[in-house]
Amino acid sequence: MGVVSFEISIPLDPDGFIEMECDYCKNRFMLHHQIYESEDNINFFCPICGLPNRTNTFFVPEVLEKAQQIALNYMYDEIDRTLGKSLKQFNKNGLVKMTMKTPKRKIEKELYAPSEDYVQCEKGCCGLKVKVKNIDKEIGIYCPVCGRS
Ligand SMILES: [Zn+2]
Ligand SMILES: [Zn+2]
Repeated sequence: MGVVSFEISIPLDPDGFIEMECDYCKNRFMLHHQIYESEDNINFFCPICGLPNRTNTFFVPEVLEKAQQIALNYMYDEIDRTLGKSLKQFNKNGLVKMTMKTPKRKIEKELYAPSEDYVQCEKGCCGLKVKVKNIDKEIGIYCPVCGRS
């Protein structure tokens, strides 16, 4: 088996924002997908706690769970394909009859819809918009790109 890559579409809100979660403080915020996809950014600063972390650590758990499920279902397919074939050959010589059952696969869960209770904040330093919870906006947020408060 070579390297297999899976595509997961992460839902965006009507403004094109992706919901993300900081691995340190577990707070959620939303970034515009263009900022998220920009290859200039290796790290993001969490707008709430201000700690930098690699961009791919900001996936929300629902997305990670979905990714695991897709990978697992793929694995079951592979088992069906490869093991099923060799069992057929094995059965041909007629000495032993073997059948195989693969575990029932989980139905892929639909992805969550991003929640609506976010307010938009503008960070003038980098000219970008972030969506955070109202309370976080009142306390003040860090710029996800340059980390300025
Ligand atoms: Zn944080
Ligand atoms: Zn900035």
